[in-house]
Amino acid sequence: MELKNYMEEAVKDTLDNVLKDLDVCKCEKCKLDIMALTLNSLPSKYYVTEKGELYNKVNELKRQFEVDIISKITQAAYFVNEHKHHGDDHV
Ligand SMILES: [Zn+2]
Repeated sequence: MELKNYMEEAVKDTLDNVLKDLDVCKCEKCKLDIMALTLNSLPSKYYVTEKGELYNKVNELKRQFEVDIISKITQAAYFVNEHKHHGDDHV
């Protein structure tokens, strides 16, 4: 058994699809920053899960929150691109 934030999975699942249409940096650091910002502005959805159960619940959430998820990712992507574009450790 595992405690999981399904919203995190739903955002992770949607991220690349949204980013590919945006003119923003898509390096690992920016993607994680975008994930963090996006998740902070969406409700958490924690469930106790057994292996294999994930897929259905994530799809259900994605349907329910798709518009929100896409618009939050878009906002976060532009914010990260403009405001926190890479620390010194970034190559
Ligand atoms: Zn970057």
